[in-house]
Amino acid sequence: MKILVTGGAGYIGSHTVVLLIEAGYEVIVFDNFYNASKESIRRVEKIINQSIEVIEGDLRNRDDLKSVFEKHTISSVIHFAGLKAVGESVEKPLKYYDNNVNGSAVLCEVMAEYDCKSIIFSSSATVYGDPHTTPILEDFPLFATNPYGRSKLMVEEILRDVYVSDNTWKIILLRYFNPVGAHESGTIGEDPNGIPNNLMPFIAQTAVGKREYLSVFGDDYDTKDGTGVRDYIHVVDLAKGHVNALDRIENFKEVMTVNLGTGKGYSVLEMIRAFEKASNKKVAYKIAQRRAGDIATCFADPSYAKEVLDWKAEKSIDQMCEDGWRWQSQNPNGYKGIV
Ligand code: NAD
Ligand code: UDP
Repeated sequence: MKILVTGGAGYIGSHTVVLLIEAGYEVIVFDNFYNASKESIRRVEKIINQSIEVIEGDLRNRDDLKSVFEKHTISSVIHFAGLKAVGESVEKPLKYYDNNVNGSAVLCEVMAEYDCKSIIFSSSATVYGDPHTTPILEDFPLFATNPYGRSKLMVEEILRDVYVSDNTWKIILLRYFNPVGAHESGTIGEDPNGIPNNLMPFIAQTAVGKREYLSVFGDDYDTKDGTGVRDYIHVVDLAKGHVNALDRIENFKEVMTVNLGTGKGYSVLEMIRAFEKASNKKVAYKIAQRRAGDIATCFADPSYAKEVLDWKAEKSIDQMCEDGWRWQSQNPNGYKGIV
């Protein structure tokens, strides 16, 4: 079965491509390389010891997408492609709505034209806004606090409407919690542009000596130690969730919405300590102001994923930090500088 992976050169996409091929799927990657390096594909090819067909193109360009479907009979699409920087989305909302919402709508149109009606979409725990309680279940109220989050909510709604209009579609919405870590080989991983926004890449870059110290955004939250609590999930566990979803997608008779998280919450200070242990490096930090828009606590109830996808996160926080450190220490500049 041929699977189209949009955004397959990116962080989560590249790890998922490895697992899909290991599971016996044939994969076509579609990416515009806006936030990815071709080196990630070369590294994936090395891990799986075979070449991958990559089609360079943009979601918003119908002809780019059509060229994929003209050439290949695609049975399902795993749709990772999108922009993900929350801060940038506040400054450039139209860029986010165009890329993430319009791009997804064009993708669905072209899919329908070629009678491919099976899609797994990368949504996010951000669609729960500031939840009234934790752990978070899939039927909690939805609320977005920024254009990035709203773009995810909008695509979820679009896909639900597509299903209402034609219930032969197979649609799974996967809501990710906080993906971290890297493939155990240390050859592929997260490679943020410029100064990282997310905690784990910032900690890793501090440990490797690229940043002087980490700013801990607030120590006065109502949490175990006052710092923010999140559900960090190993990217390989997350990738496995997609393989399980794909294995089962034909069985589902409605739009499935599934949390992919571990069910455990770790604070910023706990993450610093775990990373120090894994890397044997000191991570200098200073307590700073709360970051606007942050919430105190966010972690999943992952029981529905177990029930419908037979999926459960397996990897511990120590493995997340060890694998993240292997990637960071072997590739201090990510994929940059490699042609
Ligand atoms: P990423 O930026 O590493 O990967 C996204 C990929 O999509 C990149 O390779 C980029 O070049 C490509 N892309 C973007 N716009 C495109 C377009 N118009 N046409 C073709 N390709 C395009 O991000 P990631 O962390 O791998 O995230 C994958 C998906 O998961 C995204 O949709 C993201 O919003 C979602 N998600 C990520 C996180 C996270 O913390 N990483 C959490 C929740 C949800
Ligand atoms: N955080 C931090 N310093 C940083 C980046 C993040 O203290 O440089 C905190 C942030 O306030 C939150 C947690 O780390 O409590 C996870 O933040 P991240 O941006 O990685 O994920 P998100 O907030 O989107 O869940």
